[in-house]
Amino acid sequence: MLVSAKEMLNKAKAGKYAVGQFNINNLEWTKAVLLTAQENNSPVILGVSEGAAKYMCGYKTIVGMVNGIMEELKITVPVALHLDHGSYEGALKAMEAGFSSIMFDGSHYPIDENIAKTTEMVKLTSEKGLSLEAEVGSIGGEEDGVVGAGEIADANECKAIADLGVTMLAAGIGNIHGKYPANWKGLSFEALEAISNLTGDMPLVLHGGTGIPEDMIQRAISLGVSKINVNTECQLAFAEGTRKYIEAGKDLEGKGFDPRKLLAPGFEAIKATVKEKMELFGSVNKA
Ligand SMILES: [Zn+2]
Repeated sequence: MLVSAKEMLNKAKAGKYAVGQFNINNLEWTKAVLLTAQENNSPVILGVSEGAAKYMCGYKTIVGMVNGIMEELKITVPVALHLDHGSYEGALKAMEAGFSSIMFDGSHYPIDENIAKTTEMVKLTSEKGLSLEAEVGSIGGEEDGVVGAGEIADANECKAIADLGVTMLAAGIGNIHGKYPANWKGLSFEALEAISNLTGDMPLVLHGGTGIPEDMIQRAISLGVSKINVNTECQLAFAEGTRKYIEAGKDLEGKGFDPRKLLAPGFEAIKATVKEKMELFGSVNKA
C-alpha cells in the first residue's frame, strides 16, 4: 500500500540519512526501482513529473500500475508515489487519482503568492493524509520545459513556507536539474546551513542529484537534507545499457529483438544505479 512520505522523511532527518526519490517513466522503470528498494530493505519515493504523467497516460494509469506491481512483487517496504514539480491543477488531479504525496512548486510565483497557494495545498493534502513538498528558490536547469536559473533560496522565505505545515521543503542551494556544467560552482553549504538552522526539524529536499560529487551529497545530508531526487542518472544508465546491447548487435541474434530481452540491460542498469544511490544516501535497511 502506498504511504505518505512524512514518516519515512522524519525518520531520515532524525537518523541523518536521506531517502531517494527516483523518477519513473514506464513499467520497466517502476519495477526496477521497487524491486531494488525491496532487495535493499529501503524506503523509497517514486517521482512522477507532469510530463511523465502525460507520457504514461495519466495519473490513474500510474496509480493502477504502481499498486499492481507492488501487490504482484510483494513489495512491503514503505513506498510513496509523489507528484514532482506539480502545478496547482496537476496537484489536484494527482490527489484525486490516488497519489500519496504531492509537490506543489510555487517557486516561480512571487513569495506572497507562493505562500498563499502553498497554504491552500497544506489544507487539501492534510485532509487526505498526504505529504506535501513545497519549493523556495527555483532549481536551475531544465525540467519538462521549465528553465530555472539555480537560485540560492532566502532562508527567511524558507522558514515562512516551512511554518505553513508542509512535510518537506525543497530549497535552491545552487543545485540544478540535468547534467552539471563544467564551470558549476558547487552546492552552497553556507545557504544550506542557514536554511537548516531556521527550519529546524523540517526535512529538506535536494533536487538535481545527478552528478553532485559524493562528498557534497554526504555533507548535505549531515546538514539536514533528507530527500534526494534522482532522475537524469537513471536515464543515462538506461540509455547506455540499451545502446551497448544494440551496438553489440544482440538484437540481431536469435530472438534478441524481443522487447523483454532488448530492455533488460537498461532495466538492470537502473537497478544498479538505484542501489548505488541507496547505499550513498544511507537508506539501506531503514525500511
Ligand atoms: Zn526537481
